Amino acid sequence: MSDSSRRQELAARLAVVRKRIAAACDAAGRDAAEVTLVAVTKTFPASDVRLLYGLGVADIGENRDSEAAPKAAQCADLDLTWHFIGQLQTNKAGSVARYAGCVHSVDRLRLVGALGKAARGAGREINCLVQVSLDGDPARGGAVAAEVPLVAEALAAEPGLVLSGVMAIAPLGMAPSDAFARLRDSASDVRAVSPAATVISAGMSADLEEAVAAGATHLRIGTALLGDRPRVR
Ligand SMILES: *Cc1c(COP(=O)(O)O)cnc(C)c1O
Repeated sequence: MSDSSRRQELAARLAVVRKRIAAACDAAGRDAAEVTLVAVTKTFPASDVRLLYGLGVADIGENRDSEAAPKAAQCADLDLTWHFIGQLQTNKAGSVARYAGCVHSVDRLRLVGALGKAARGAGREINCLVQVSLDGDPARGGAVAAEVPLVAEALAAEPGLVLSGVMAIAPLGMAPSDAFARLRDSASDVRAVSPAATVISAGMSADLEEAVAAGATHLRIGTALLGDRPRVR
């Protein structure tokens, strides 16, 4: 596909997503300016990141360091904020700290230490969200609700890291509205640790309306913006 037809496709998809966000904000009595669209570009090339940037999208989400690190390097000339949204092994913290402005998936104390050390080593400050497991099954990442305050306190105390809020993925088999209502409880636990930690990262292509209704400040949108991913993971 030529660059200009891909640009047209992305522009059309972006317009649809922006309309959905605006309608959801209207319905919830919220200002669309409170909601940040994070374009999840995993499996798509750096050229798409560049096209999205040209269309006014400066927040980019990736879930694997092995893919994100080279993509971020290829786009180093753009004023982007990279959001790391996938499960993160401590041995990847050093790499992620070199490009990520925000890590959405902090779910355990050991990762707080590793990421803090990496941030200080890179001379950068990284915004961090506590990922919450909404069904209490941490297999797919996330701290269970009872552990969220502990992870939040560790983040708040870690030099190089900034406790910024919470993130969750609506579990399969749970209505997104119920899931995001639970997330609000964890969000308030985190604000009790740091009142400035107001970010709520929730909502993907299929459930952004429910997320906006539940107070999400950051939406992580892949398929609706970029199209279907190859089914490899
Ligand atoms: C892939 C991914 C998304 C985007 O999902 P879509 O359904 O394609 O919008 C959001 N959040 C996380 C953590 C992801 O891994």
